[in-house]
Amino acid sequence: MTRSREHAVVIGGSLSGLLAARVLADHFAEVTLVERDRLAEAVASRPGLGQARHLHVLWNRGLEIAEGLFPGLEDELLAAGVPEVRVPADMLWLSSAGWRRRFASTRLLTFSRDLLDWSVRARLAKIGNVRVLAGREVTGLLAGGGAVTGVETRERGTAEAGEPLAADLVLDATGRVSKTPAWLERIGYPAVRQTLIDPLLGYASRNYAVPPGFDPGWKALYFQAKPPHTTRTGALFPQEGGRWIVSLFGAAEDYPPTDEDGFLEFAKSLRSPLLYETIRDAEPLTPIVSYRRTSNHRRHYERMSTWPKRFLVTGDALCAFNPLYGQGMTVAAKSALTLDACLRADGDLDALARRFHRRAVRNAAGPWLVATGEDLRYSTTKGGTAGVQTRVLNRYVDRVQALANVDPRVCGRFVDVLGLTAQPQSLFLPDVLWRAATARTRQPAGPADLAP
Ligand SMILES: Cc1cc2nc3c(=O)[nH]c(=O)nc-3n(C[C@H](O)[C@H](O)[C@H](O)COP(=O)(O)OP(=O)(O)OC[C@H]3O[C@@H](n4cnc5c(N)ncnc54)[C@H](O)[C@@H]3O)c2cc1C
Repeated sequence: MTRSREHAVVIGGSLSGLLAARVLADHFAEVTLVERDRLAEAVASRPGLGQARHLHVLWNRGLEIAEGLFPGLEDELLAAGVPEVRVPADMLWLSSAGWRRRFASTRLLTFSRDLLDWSVRARLAKIGNVRVLAGREVTGLLAGGGAVTGVETRERGTAEAGEPLAADLVLDATGRVSKTPAWLERIGYPAVRQTLIDPLLGYASRNYAVPPGFDPGWKALYFQAKPPHTTRTGALFPQEGGRWIVSLFGAAEDYPPTDEDGFLEFAKSLRSPLLYETIRDAEPLTPIVSYRRTSNHRRHYERMSTWPKRFLVTGDALCAFNPLYGQGMTVAAKSALTLDACLRADGDLDALARRFHRRAVRNAAGPWLVATGEDLRYSTTKGGTAGVQTRVLNRYVDRVQALANVDPRVCGRFVDVLGLTAQPQSLFLPDVLWRAATARTRQPAGPADLAP
Protein backbone atom coordinates (compact mmCIF):
# COMPACT_ATOMS: atom_id res chain seq x y z
CA MET A 1 0.00 0.00 0.00
CA THR A 2 1.52 3.34 -1.01
CA ARG A 3 1.11 6.36 1.25
CA SER A 4 -1.27 7.92 -1.24
CA ARG A 5 -3.80 5.17 -0.58
CA GLU A 6 -4.04 5.74 3.15
CA HIS A 7 -7.53 7.19 3.53
CA ALA A 8 -10.63 7.52 1.32
CA VAL A 9 -13.74 9.47 2.30
CA VAL A 10 -17.17 8.63 0.87
CA ILE A 11 -19.90 11.27 1.33
CA GLY A 12 -23.41 9.78 1.55
CA GLY A 13 -24.46 6.44 3.02
CA SER A 14 -27.15 5.29 0.60
CA LEU A 15 -26.62 2.54 -1.96
CA SER A 16 -24.05 4.33 -4.15
CA GLY A 17 -21.97 5.29 -1.13
CA LEU A 18 -22.26 1.88 0.54
CA LEU A 19 -21.18 -0.05 -2.54
CA ALA A 20 -18.38 2.39 -3.36
CA ALA A 21 -17.10 2.21 0.24
CA ARG A 22 -17.02 -1.57 -0.03
CA VAL A 23 -14.88 -1.32 -3.19
CA LEU A 24 -12.57 1.32 -1.69
CA ALA A 25 -11.95 -0.88 1.35
CA ASP A 26 -9.97 -3.19 -0.99
CA HIS A 27 -7.78 -0.32 -2.20
CA PHE A 28 -7.23 1.97 0.81
CA ALA A 29 -5.87 1.38 4.30
CA GLU A 30 -8.88 3.17 5.77
CA VAL A 31 -12.28 4.24 4.45
CA THR A 32 -14.62 6.70 6.18
CA LEU A 33 -18.23 6.93 5.07
CA VAL A 34 -19.91 10.16 6.20
CA GLU A 35 -23.72 10.15 6.34
CA ARG A 36 -25.70 13.11 7.59
CA ASP A 37 -28.63 11.06 8.90
CA ARG A 38 -28.40 9.38 12.25
CA LEU A 39 -28.61 5.66 11.51
CA ALA A 40 -30.71 3.22 13.52
CA GLU A 41 -29.49 -0.23 14.57
CA ALA A 42 -32.59 -1.87 13.05
CA VAL A 43 -34.38 -1.47 9.71
CA ALA A 44 -35.95 2.00 9.84
CA SER A 45 -36.86 4.83 7.53
CA ARG A 46 -34.74 7.99 7.61
CA PRO A 47 -35.07 11.49 6.14
CA GLY A 48 -32.21 11.17 3.65
CA LEU A 49 -33.82 8.13 2.06
CA GLY A 50 -37.38 9.43 1.67
CA GLN A 51 -37.73 7.55 -1.61
CA ALA A 52 -37.60 4.26 0.33
CA ARG A 53 -41.31 4.56 1.11
CA HIS A 54 -42.03 4.06 -2.60
CA LEU A 55 -41.68 1.03 -4.82
CA HIS A 56 -38.03 0.11 -5.49
CA VAL A 57 -37.15 -2.58 -8.01
CA LEU A 58 -33.56 -3.77 -8.11
CA TRP A 59 -32.93 -5.48 -11.41
CA ASN A 60 -30.96 -8.70 -11.53
CA ARG A 61 -27.69 -7.12 -12.61
CA GLY A 62 -27.76 -4.76 -9.63
CA LEU A 63 -28.45 -7.60 -7.22
CA GLU A 64 -25.74 -9.73 -8.78
CA ILE A 65 -23.17 -6.95 -8.24
CA ALA A 66 -24.31 -6.34 -4.66
CA GLU A 67 -24.07 -10.10 -4.01
CA GLY A 68 -20.56 -10.17 -5.51
CA LEU A 69 -19.46 -7.40 -3.17
CA PHE A 70 -21.28 -8.85 -0.14
CA PRO A 71 -21.51 -12.62 -0.64
CA GLY A 72 -24.52 -14.12 1.13
CA LEU A 73 -26.62 -10.95 0.86
CA GLU A 74 -29.23 -12.62 -1.33
CA ASP A 75 -29.70 -15.54 1.07
CA GLU A 76 -30.00 -13.12 3.95
CA LEU A 77 -32.74 -11.19 2.15
CA LEU A 78 -34.59 -14.39 1.32
CA ALA A 79 -34.28 -15.51 4.93
CA ALA A 80 -35.85 -12.19 5.97
CA GLY A 81 -38.94 -13.23 4.01
CA VAL A 82 -38.35 -11.21 0.82
CA PRO A 83 -40.62 -12.57 -1.94
CA GLU A 84 -39.39 -13.61 -5.38
CA VAL A 85 -41.28 -12.42 -8.44
CA ARG A 86 -40.59 -13.79 -11.91
CA VAL A 87 -40.94 -11.05 -14.51
CA PRO A 88 -43.41 -11.18 -16.11
CA ALA A 89 -44.45 -14.79 -15.32
CA ASP A 90 -45.75 -13.89 -11.85
CA MET A 91 -47.22 -10.56 -12.91
CA LEU A 92 -50.13 -9.05 -14.69
CA TRP A 93 -48.35 -6.45 -16.81
CA LEU A 94 -50.38 -4.02 -18.86
CA SER A 95 -47.78 -2.39 -21.07
CA SER A 96 -48.40 0.75 -23.11
CA ALA A 97 -49.19 -1.60 -26.03
CA GLY A 98 -51.52 -3.96 -24.15
CA TRP A 99 -51.41 -7.04 -21.88
CA ARG A 100 -48.11 -8.90 -21.76
CA ARG A 101 -48.10 -12.68 -21.87
CA ARG A 102 -46.55 -14.22 -18.78
CA PHE A 103 -43.23 -15.49 -20.12
CA ALA A 104 -40.44 -16.10 -17.60
CA SER A 105 -37.63 -13.65 -18.35
CA THR A 106 -35.97 -12.71 -15.11
CA ARG A 107 -36.44 -12.85 -11.36
CA LEU A 108 -36.70 -10.01 -8.88
CA LEU A 109 -36.34 -10.06 -5.11
CA THR A 110 -38.97 -7.58 -4.01
CA PHE A 111 -37.55 -6.21 -0.75
CA SER A 112 -38.34 -2.86 0.77
CA ARG A 113 -35.65 -0.31 0.09
CA ASP A 114 -35.03 0.22 3.82
CA LEU A 115 -34.32 -3.48 4.27
CA LEU A 116 -31.87 -3.53 1.37
CA ASP A 117 -29.91 -0.52 2.63
CA TRP A 118 -29.85 -1.78 6.20
CA SER A 119 -28.61 -5.23 5.10
CA VAL A 120 -25.83 -3.76 2.97
CA ARG A 121 -24.87 -1.25 5.66
CA ALA A 122 -24.70 -3.90 8.38
CA ARG A 123 -22.33 -5.93 6.21
CA LEU A 124 -20.19 -2.92 5.39
CA ALA A 125 -19.85 -2.03 9.07
CA LYS A 126 -18.27 -5.44 9.70
CA ILE A 127 -15.33 -4.67 7.40
CA GLY A 128 -12.35 -3.84 9.62
CA ASN A 129 -10.98 -0.82 7.75
CA VAL A 130 -14.35 0.90 7.22
CA ARG A 131 -15.68 3.52 9.65
CA VAL A 132 -19.22 4.91 9.36
CA LEU A 133 -19.64 8.46 10.69
CA ALA A 134 -23.40 8.95 11.01
CA GLY A 135 -25.14 12.21 11.94
CA ARG A 136 -22.28 14.16 10.32
CA GLU A 137 -22.83 16.43 7.35
CA VAL A 138 -20.21 17.35 4.79
CA THR A 139 -20.31 21.11 4.17
CA GLY A 140 -17.50 21.64 1.68
CA LEU A 141 -14.29 20.41 0.12
CA LEU A 142 -10.72 21.01 1.28
CA ALA A 143 -8.39 21.71 -1.62
CA GLY A 144 -4.72 22.34 -2.34
CA GLY A 145 -2.26 21.78 -5.20
CA GLY A 146 -4.99 21.17 -7.76
CA ALA A 147 -6.47 18.32 -5.74
CA VAL A 148 -9.24 17.76 -3.22
CA THR A 149 -7.49 16.94 0.04
CA GLY A 150 -10.45 16.25 2.31
CA VAL A 151 -13.85 17.50 3.47
CA GLU A 152 -15.29 19.99 5.93
CA THR A 153 -17.94 18.53 8.21
CA ARG A 154 -20.32 19.50 10.96
CA GLU A 155 -22.45 17.60 13.42
CA ARG A 156 -26.01 17.48 12.03
CA GLY A 157 -28.25 20.01 13.71
CA THR A 158 -25.41 22.28 14.89
CA ALA A 159 -24.02 25.38 13.27
CA GLU A 160 -20.46 24.80 14.43
CA ALA A 161 -17.84 23.49 12.11
CA GLY A 162 -16.79 19.97 12.99
CA GLU A 163 -13.44 18.33 12.54
CA PRO A 164 -12.20 18.40 8.93
CA LEU A 165 -11.31 15.03 7.46
CA ALA A 166 -8.13 14.77 5.40
CA ALA A 167 -8.24 12.20 2.59
CA ASP A 168 -6.25 10.88 -0.35
CA LEU A 169 -9.50 10.39 -2.29
CA VAL A 170 -12.99 11.89 -1.81
CA LEU A 171 -16.10 10.50 -3.49
CA ASP A 172 -19.45 12.32 -3.56
CA ALA A 173 -22.41 9.91 -3.34
CA THR A 174 -24.95 12.37 -1.94
CA GLY A 175 -27.56 11.77 -4.63
CA ARG A 176 -29.84 14.33 -6.24
CA VAL A 177 -29.22 16.87 -3.45
CA SER A 178 -25.47 16.87 -4.14
CA LYS A 179 -23.83 20.25 -3.56
CA THR A 180 -20.75 19.48 -5.63
CA PRO A 181 -21.41 22.27 -8.20
CA ALA A 182 -21.46 24.86 -5.39
CA TRP A 183 -18.55 23.25 -3.53
CA LEU A 184 -16.45 23.31 -6.69
CA GLU A 185 -17.20 26.97 -7.36
CA ARG A 186 -16.12 27.79 -3.80
CA ILE A 187 -12.69 26.30 -4.41
CA GLY A 188 -12.26 28.12 -7.72
CA TYR A 189 -13.68 25.81 -10.42
CA PRO A 190 -16.05 26.93 -13.17
CA ALA A 191 -19.82 26.39 -13.16
CA VAL A 192 -20.93 22.87 -14.03
CA ARG A 193 -23.11 22.28 -17.10
CA GLN A 194 -26.29 20.44 -16.21
CA THR A 195 -29.16 18.85 -18.16
CA LEU A 196 -32.58 18.56 -16.59
CA ILE A 197 -35.46 16.77 -18.31
CA ASP A 198 -38.47 16.81 -16.05
CA PRO A 199 -41.63 14.82 -16.87
CA LEU A 200 -43.35 16.45 -13.86
CA LEU A 201 -44.07 13.02 -12.44
CA GLY A 202 -45.30 12.38 -8.92
CA TYR A 203 -45.54 9.25 -6.77
CA ALA A 204 -48.01 8.37 -4.03
CA SER A 205 -47.47 5.12 -2.12
CA ARG A 206 -48.85 3.06 0.70
CA ASN A 207 -48.29 -0.36 2.24
CA TYR A 208 -51.19 -2.80 2.69
CA ALA A 209 -51.41 -6.16 4.46
CA VAL A 210 -51.72 -9.05 1.99
CA PRO A 211 -55.11 -10.60 2.91
CA PRO A 212 -54.80 -14.10 4.43
CA GLY A 213 -55.05 -16.86 1.80
CA PHE A 214 -54.73 -14.41 -1.09
CA ASP A 215 -53.81 -16.45 -4.18
CA PRO A 216 -55.27 -15.27 -7.49
CA GLY A 217 -52.44 -16.86 -9.52
CA TRP A 218 -50.29 -13.71 -9.72
CA LYS A 219 -48.02 -11.92 -7.26
CA ALA A 220 -47.61 -8.44 -8.73
CA LEU A 221 -49.45 -5.91 -10.87
CA TYR A 222 -47.91 -3.33 -13.16
CA PHE A 223 -50.25 -1.15 -15.21
CA GLN A 224 -48.42 1.38 -17.33
CA ALA A 225 -49.62 4.66 -18.80
CA LYS A 226 -49.96 4.97 -22.56
CA PRO A 227 -48.16 8.22 -23.27
CA PRO A 228 -48.99 10.78 -24.46
CA HIS A 229 -52.69 9.80 -24.26
CA THR A 230 -52.71 8.70 -20.61
CA THR A 231 -50.46 9.76 -17.75
CA ARG A 232 -51.28 7.30 -14.98
CA THR A 233 -49.30 4.21 -13.93
CA GLY A 234 -49.85 1.90 -10.96
CA ALA A 235 -47.90 -0.96 -9.40
CA LEU A 236 -48.49 -3.43 -6.62
CA PHE A 237 -45.61 -5.64 -5.47
CA PRO A 238 -45.25 -7.99 -2.49
CA GLN A 239 -42.60 -7.23 0.13
CA GLU A 240 -41.18 -8.90 3.22
CA GLY A 241 -43.50 -8.96 6.25
CA GLY A 242 -46.57 -10.11 4.31
CA ARG A 243 -47.30 -6.70 2.85
CA TRP A 244 -47.82 -5.05 -0.49
CA ILE A 245 -46.30 -1.80 -1.62
CA VAL A 246 -48.70 0.08 -3.87
CA SER A 247 -47.26 3.01 -5.80
CA LEU A 248 -49.28 5.26 -8.09
CA PHE A 249 -47.52 7.51 -10.56
CA GLY A 250 -48.81 10.45 -12.57
CA ALA A 251 -46.83 12.26 -15.27
CA ALA A 252 -47.43 15.73 -16.75
CA GLU A 253 -48.41 17.15 -13.32
CA ASP A 254 -51.22 14.63 -12.98
CA TYR A 255 -49.98 13.94 -9.45
CA PRO A 256 -51.70 11.14 -7.50
CA PRO A 257 -53.49 12.46 -4.39
CA THR A 258 -52.52 11.49 -0.85
CA ASP A 259 -55.99 11.49 0.68
CA GLU A 260 -57.81 8.19 1.15
CA ASP A 261 -60.57 8.70 -1.45
CA GLY A 262 -58.37 10.45 -3.98
CA PHE A 263 -55.77 7.66 -3.83
CA LEU A 264 -58.40 4.98 -4.48
CA GLU A 265 -60.05 7.04 -7.25
CA PHE A 266 -56.68 7.41 -8.97
CA ALA A 267 -56.13 3.64 -8.70
CA LYS A 268 -59.60 3.05 -10.16
CA SER A 269 -58.81 5.28 -13.14
CA LEU A 270 -55.77 3.24 -14.29
CA ARG A 271 -56.09 1.46 -17.62
CA SER A 272 -57.30 -1.60 -15.70
CA PRO A 273 -59.42 -1.40 -12.51
CA LEU A 274 -57.86 -4.59 -11.10
CA LEU A 275 -55.36 -2.82 -8.83
CA TYR A 276 -58.18 -0.78 -7.31
CA GLU A 277 -60.33 -3.90 -6.87
CA THR A 278 -57.39 -5.61 -5.14
CA ILE A 279 -56.71 -2.86 -2.59
CA ARG A 280 -60.14 -1.34 -1.97
CA ASP A 281 -60.90 -3.71 0.94
CA ALA A 282 -57.29 -4.44 1.97
CA GLU A 283 -55.96 -3.24 5.32
CA PRO A 284 -53.69 -0.17 4.96
CA LEU A 285 -50.56 -0.37 7.11
CA THR A 286 -49.09 3.08 6.49
CA PRO A 287 -50.21 6.60 5.61
CA ILE A 288 -50.14 7.62 1.94
CA VAL A 289 -46.92 9.46 1.13
CA SER A 290 -45.90 11.39 -1.96
CA TYR A 291 -42.66 12.16 -3.80
CA ARG A 292 -42.09 14.57 -6.67
CA ARG A 293 -38.34 14.97 -7.13
CA THR A 294 -38.19 12.70 -10.15
CA SER A 295 -36.52 14.62 -12.98
CA ASN A 296 -33.76 13.20 -15.17
CA HIS A 297 -30.72 15.19 -14.05
CA ARG A 298 -27.20 15.01 -15.45
CA ARG A 299 -24.26 16.98 -14.23
CA HIS A 300 -21.63 16.95 -16.96
CA TYR A 301 -18.46 16.60 -14.90
CA GLU A 302 -16.78 14.59 -17.63
CA ARG A 303 -16.87 17.70 -19.83
CA MET A 304 -15.22 20.11 -17.37
CA SER A 305 -12.07 21.73 -18.71
CA THR A 306 -10.46 21.58 -15.27
CA TRP A 307 -11.19 19.20 -12.45
CA PRO A 308 -9.58 18.70 -9.04
CA LYS A 309 -7.51 15.56 -8.74
CA ARG A 310 -8.62 12.86 -6.32
CA PHE A 311 -12.28 13.83 -6.35
CA LEU A 312 -15.04 11.65 -7.83
CA VAL A 313 -18.82 11.86 -8.10
CA THR A 314 -21.05 8.80 -8.50
CA GLY A 315 -24.67 7.57 -8.45
CA ASP A 316 -27.57 10.00 -8.54
CA ALA A 317 -25.19 12.87 -7.79
CA LEU A 318 -23.69 12.31 -11.25
CA CYS A 319 -26.79 11.24 -13.14
CA ALA A 320 -30.29 10.64 -11.80
CA PHE A 321 -33.19 9.22 -13.81
CA ASN A 322 -36.94 9.39 -13.68
CA PRO A 323 -37.28 6.48 -11.20
CA LEU A 324 -40.32 4.98 -12.91
CA TYR A 325 -38.02 2.65 -14.87
CA GLY A 326 -36.19 1.40 -11.75
CA GLN A 327 -32.62 1.89 -12.96
CA GLY A 328 -30.81 4.12 -10.43
CA MET A 329 -29.63 1.43 -8.02
CA THR A 330 -28.37 -0.85 -10.79
CA VAL A 331 -26.44 2.03 -12.36
CA ALA A 332 -25.00 2.80 -8.90
CA ALA A 333 -23.91 -0.84 -8.59
CA LYS A 334 -22.34 -0.83 -12.05
CA SER A 335 -20.41 2.31 -11.17
CA ALA A 336 -19.04 0.63 -8.03
CA LEU A 337 -17.59 -2.08 -10.30
CA THR A 338 -16.26 0.61 -12.63
CA LEU A 339 -14.50 2.23 -9.68
CA ASP A 340 -12.92 -1.08 -8.77
CA ALA A 341 -11.77 -1.67 -12.35
CA CYS A 342 -10.27 1.84 -12.62
CA LEU A 343 -8.39 1.45 -9.34
CA ARG A 344 -7.05 -1.94 -10.36
CA ALA A 345 -5.98 -0.83 -13.82
CA ASP A 346 -3.86 2.12 -12.76
CA GLY A 347 -2.34 3.14 -9.43
CA ASP A 348 -2.29 6.84 -10.30
CA LEU A 349 -4.99 8.48 -8.19
CA ASP A 350 -4.35 11.84 -9.86
CA ALA A 351 -5.60 10.47 -13.17
CA LEU A 352 -8.51 8.52 -11.71
CA ALA A 353 -11.31 11.10 -11.92
CA ARG A 354 -11.34 11.59 -15.68
CA ARG A 355 -11.19 7.85 -16.34
CA PHE A 356 -13.86 7.03 -13.80
CA HIS A 357 -16.30 9.76 -14.83
CA ARG A 358 -16.08 8.85 -18.52
CA ARG A 359 -16.90 5.23 -17.75
CA ALA A 360 -19.57 6.02 -15.16
CA VAL A 361 -21.29 8.25 -17.71
CA ARG A 362 -21.28 5.30 -20.11
CA ASN A 363 -23.03 3.18 -17.44
CA ALA A 364 -25.76 5.81 -17.32
CA ALA A 365 -26.12 6.35 -21.08
CA GLY A 366 -28.58 3.50 -21.83
CA PRO A 367 -30.89 4.20 -18.86
CA TRP A 368 -30.81 7.92 -19.72
CA LEU A 369 -31.94 7.13 -23.26
CA VAL A 370 -34.74 4.86 -22.03
CA ALA A 371 -36.04 7.29 -19.41
CA THR A 372 -35.80 10.53 -21.38
CA GLY A 373 -37.07 8.89 -24.59
CA GLU A 374 -40.24 7.82 -22.76
CA ASP A 375 -40.61 11.12 -20.90
CA LEU A 376 -40.35 13.19 -24.06
CA ARG A 377 -43.51 11.54 -25.36
CA TYR A 378 -45.34 14.11 -23.20
CA SER A 379 -45.29 17.58 -24.69
CA THR A 380 -45.47 18.93 -21.12
CA THR A 381 -42.05 17.51 -20.21
CA LYS A 382 -39.71 20.34 -19.29
CA GLY A 383 -36.14 20.71 -20.52
CA GLY A 384 -36.43 19.13 -23.96
CA THR A 385 -38.66 18.23 -26.87
CA ALA A 386 -38.85 15.05 -28.91
CA GLY A 387 -36.96 15.66 -32.15
CA VAL A 388 -37.49 13.60 -35.30
CA GLN A 389 -34.96 11.00 -34.15
CA THR A 390 -36.71 10.49 -30.78
CA ARG A 391 -40.13 10.31 -32.44
CA VAL A 392 -38.96 7.67 -34.93
CA LEU A 393 -37.26 5.75 -32.13
CA ASN A 394 -40.39 5.88 -30.01
CA ARG A 395 -42.51 4.58 -32.87
CA TYR A 396 -40.16 1.61 -33.18
CA VAL A 397 -40.27 1.09 -29.39
CA ASP A 398 -44.09 0.99 -29.61
CA ARG A 399 -43.76 -1.81 -32.12
CA VAL A 400 -41.26 -3.66 -29.89
CA GLN A 401 -43.57 -3.23 -26.88
CA ALA A 402 -46.42 -4.81 -28.82
CA LEU A 403 -44.14 -7.66 -29.90
CA ALA A 404 -42.81 -8.16 -26.37
CA ASN A 405 -46.39 -8.76 -25.28
CA VAL A 406 -46.63 -11.90 -27.41
CA ASP A 407 -43.08 -13.02 -28.26
CA PRO A 408 -40.96 -14.55 -25.46
CA ARG A 409 -37.67 -13.71 -27.14
CA VAL A 410 -38.49 -10.05 -27.66
CA CYS A 411 -39.98 -9.87 -24.18
CA GLY A 412 -36.69 -11.26 -22.80
CA ARG A 413 -34.62 -8.71 -24.71
CA PHE A 414 -36.87 -5.87 -23.62
CA VAL A 415 -36.61 -6.89 -19.96
CA ASP A 416 -32.82 -7.21 -20.37
CA VAL A 417 -32.65 -3.62 -21.60
CA LEU A 418 -34.75 -2.41 -18.67
CA GLY A 419 -32.62 -4.48 -16.31
CA LEU A 420 -29.33 -3.20 -17.78
CA THR A 421 -28.02 -6.57 -18.88
CA ALA A 422 -28.40 -5.41 -22.50
CA GLN A 423 -27.92 -2.06 -24.20
CA PRO A 424 -30.95 -0.33 -25.79
CA GLN A 425 -29.17 -0.84 -29.14
CA SER A 426 -29.76 -4.59 -28.77
CA LEU A 427 -33.41 -3.91 -29.63
CA PHE A 428 -32.12 -3.14 -33.13
CA LEU A 429 -30.26 -6.42 -33.63
CA PRO A 430 -31.46 -8.40 -36.66
CA ASP A 431 -33.51 -10.97 -34.70
CA VAL A 432 -35.71 -8.24 -33.15
CA LEU A 433 -35.70 -6.02 -36.26
CA TRP A 434 -36.87 -8.93 -38.39
CA ARG A 435 -39.69 -9.80 -36.04
CA ALA A 436 -40.68 -6.14 -35.72
CA ALA A 437 -40.93 -5.93 -39.50
CA THR A 438 -42.77 -9.17 -40.12
CA ALA A 439 -44.54 -10.58 -37.06
CA ARG A 440 -48.24 -10.33 -36.41
CA THR A 441 -48.94 -9.04 -32.93
CA ARG A 442 -52.48 -10.03 -32.02
CA GLN A 443 -52.63 -8.80 -28.44
CA PRO A 444 -54.04 -10.79 -25.50
CA ALA A 445 -57.58 -9.63 -24.73
CA GLY A 446 -57.18 -9.29 -20.96
CA PRO A 447 -55.86 -10.87 -17.77
CA ALA A 448 -57.86 -14.06 -18.37
CA ASP A 449 -55.96 -14.50 -21.63
CA LEU A 450 -52.55 -14.54 -19.91
CA ALA A 451 -51.81 -18.09 -18.81
CA PRO A 452 -48.41 -18.18 -17.04
C1 LIG B 1 -39.42 7.76 -5.66
C2 LIG B 1 -38.19 7.00 -6.13
C3 LIG B 1 -38.30 5.69 -6.52
C4 LIG B 1 -37.17 5.01 -6.99
N1 LIG B 1 -37.31 3.72 -7.43
C5 LIG B 1 -36.22 3.07 -7.87
C6 LIG B 1 -36.31 1.72 -8.32
O1 LIG B 1 -37.38 1.12 -8.36
N2 LIG B 1 -35.17 1.10 -8.72
C7 LIG B 1 -33.95 1.74 -8.72
O2 LIG B 1 -32.95 1.12 -9.11
N3 LIG B 1 -33.85 3.01 -8.31
C8 LIG B 1 -34.93 3.69 -7.89
N4 LIG B 1 -34.80 4.98 -7.47
C9 LIG B 1 -33.46 5.61 -7.51
C10 LIG B 1 -32.66 5.18 -6.29
O3 LIG B 1 -33.34 5.52 -5.11
C11 LIG B 1 -31.26 5.80 -6.33
O4 LIG B 1 -30.71 5.66 -7.60
C12 LIG B 1 -30.36 5.11 -5.31
O5 LIG B 1 -30.77 5.41 -4.01
C13 LIG B 1 -28.90 5.50 -5.44
O6 LIG B 1 -28.80 6.84 -5.10
P1 LIG B 1 -27.55 7.44 -4.36
O7 LIG B 1 -27.02 6.50 -3.34
O8 LIG B 1 -26.63 7.93 -5.41
O9 LIG B 1 -28.21 8.71 -3.64
P2 LIG B 1 -29.35 8.77 -2.54
O10 LIG B 1 -30.09 7.50 -2.45
O11 LIG B 1 -30.12 10.01 -2.79
O12 LIG B 1 -28.55 8.94 -1.18
C14 LIG B 1 -27.79 10.06 -0.87
C15 LIG B 1 -27.31 9.92 0.60
O13 LIG B 1 -26.42 11.00 0.88
C16 LIG B 1 -26.75 11.55 2.15
N5 LIG B 1 -26.30 12.97 2.13
C17 LIG B 1 -26.80 13.95 1.34
N6 LIG B 1 -26.08 15.10 1.55
C18 LIG B 1 -25.12 14.80 2.45
C19 LIG B 1 -24.06 15.56 3.04
N7 LIG B 1 -23.86 16.83 2.72
N8 LIG B 1 -23.25 14.95 3.95
C20 LIG B 1 -23.44 13.63 4.25
N9 LIG B 1 -24.42 12.87 3.73
C21 LIG B 1 -25.25 13.45 2.82
C22 LIG B 1 -28.27 11.39 2.24
O14 LIG B 1 -28.72 11.45 3.57
C23 LIG B 1 -28.43 9.99 1.61
O15 LIG B 1 -28.26 8.98 2.55
C24 LIG B 1 -35.92 5.67 -7.01
C25 LIG B 1 -35.81 7.01 -6.61
C26 LIG B 1 -36.95 7.68 -6.21
C27 LIG B 1 -36.81 9.14 -5.82
